[in-house]
Amino acid sequence: MKLKIADTFNKELPSGTNLSNTRRKVFGAMYSYVKPRVPSSPKLIHASQEMCKNLGVNAEEVTSNEFLNIFSGTKIYQDTQPYAMAYAGHQFGNWAGQLGDGRGINLFEIEHNTKRWALQLKGAGETPYSRQGDGLAVLRSSVREYLCSEAMYHLGVPTTRALSLMLSGDDVLRDMLYNGNAAYEKGAIVCRVAPTFIRFGNFELFASRNDTENLKKLTDYTIKHFYPELGLPSKANYIKFFKAVTDKTLEMIIHWQRVGFVHGVMNTDNMSILGLTIDYGPYGWLEGFDFGWTPNTTDREHKRYRYGNQPNIALWNLLQLANALYPLVEEAEPFETILNQYQKDFEVEFLEMMRLKLGLDIKTEGDKQLIEDLEDCLLLSETDMTMFYRLLSNYEKGSVDEGIKTVKDAFYNPQEIKEDKKKKWEVWFNTYDKRLNSESLTDSERQLKMNAVNPKYVLRNYMAQLAIDKANVGDYDLIDDLFKMLKNPYNNQPEYEKWFAKRPEWARHKVGCSMLSCSS
Ligand code: AMP
Ligand code: MG
Repeated sequence: MKLKIADTFNKELPSGTNLSNTRRKVFGAMYSYVKPRVPSSPKLIHASQEMCKNLGVNAEEVTSNEFLNIFSGTKIYQDTQPYAMAYAGHQFGNWAGQLGDGRGINLFEIEHNTKRWALQLKGAGETPYSRQGDGLAVLRSSVREYLCSEAMYHLGVPTTRALSLMLSGDDVLRDMLYNGNAAYEKGAIVCRVAPTFIRFGNFELFASRNDTENLKKLTDYTIKHFYPELGLPSKANYIKFFKAVTDKTLEMIIHWQRVGFVHGVMNTDNMSILGLTIDYGPYGWLEGFDFGWTPNTTDREHKRYRYGNQPNIALWNLLQLANALYPLVEEAEPFETILNQYQKDFEVEFLEMMRLKLGLDIKTEGDKQLIEDLEDCLLLSETDMTMFYRLLSNYEKGSVDEGIKTVKDAFYNPQEIKEDKKKKWEVWFNTYDKRLNSESLTDSERQLKMNAVNPKYVLRNYMAQLAIDKANVGDYDLIDDLFKMLKNPYNNQPEYEKWFAKRPEWARHKVGCSMLSCSS
């Protein structure tokens, strides 16, 4: 395996001088050198062929011992120096101080086909940033991260990627429900991949310590490699940088809302500076459409990171990034202007995205109302979001009376749609029908367009859980099956038709299928 190593982060930026692995506060450094823990009997469960290709790894190499060794942390690739990144963050709205890669170990960067990729093992052992943690990850959360990051990519949502999923062969102790019932689970390691894993929290760390020198170095590095179009460092360009990050973050959130993805832990240490979905923990997909839903049991009380709040939280997180970058600019107004603009842009982009979901080509005054009325209807009775939009594409103009029937399979309790509720849906279909008549698209043209933005298959929590249950007894076929299906989430795939279905009732309250804790 000949990788085109092209390290920059650990070549251009300062490291800590302490080479021990003890947990500590790290000052004046962007990262700490650290060696992955050697797993006792690593085993490759799955690798993403597409990611291999992106990295210049061929099919035979994937099954080689070298691949197993490098991406399980058993061996360090020649002439590379793994490291854990230092960052801080706001968690659930509170300043949390230094966090850092507690179990993420960056191996190296690769340049292939003019693209730069950083490769990071998650669950590969302790680092100076491990705090109370063990630096490890369990199989269930690793399966979820591995499958979902590749699924999100194929949905067209900006995301970190995944190269491989391995068993470590070591058991890991977890109290999954935080209720005093700790048990051993299988340990696993995911190799995840992104142009960079820099987060808002990396900037917050230096700002919080008044370390403007390193704050500037980090910002200049980020612009140079990931926003080169902005040009050389200057106050004006730092503002442009913040604007670019804001725009990318907004774009990511619009995609999340479009596909019904709820991140679950939108802390500032989980916000990528590239606007990528990062750190797949207790995430989930809306099944019944619900603005108030969050998959994260840790957030059960305040539901800070609920579906409907994601756009606001992104803005709050951007405000924290603005505060962190402020010392480089020393003027608040340009940041405020950008943050205010986010709110205006969100309205416009959200409306545009919803028009696409509804198959509307032209813009009209009443669209906002049409969308709000639809949201009200979706809340009348538990209605599966993914199925609803997909079924709606079957609607034929001029068939208002058939409207409810067209989307019926999306209702968890179709018998509830009567009297007032039925009336409301009829009124909505009536308006929608009129609206469609102002368009020039034919029914089939509209269906094609709708099906390109409304996925047929998403990684529902119960699906991931079924794959996890099987993986726990050594059967990885379902991981492979779901992986394949989720590569084409917008296509009708007759062999996978059974996954175009509402969540089964048994999964409604089953652990891992409805809500998840942060334990991973
Ligand atoms: P998360 O909620 O997964 O984004 O993690 C928040 C912080 O806790 C990050 O600094 C992680 O690196 C750290 N962390 C999470 N799990 C572990 C673990 N098992 N061992 C060490 N650090 C961890
Ligand atoms: Mg995190």
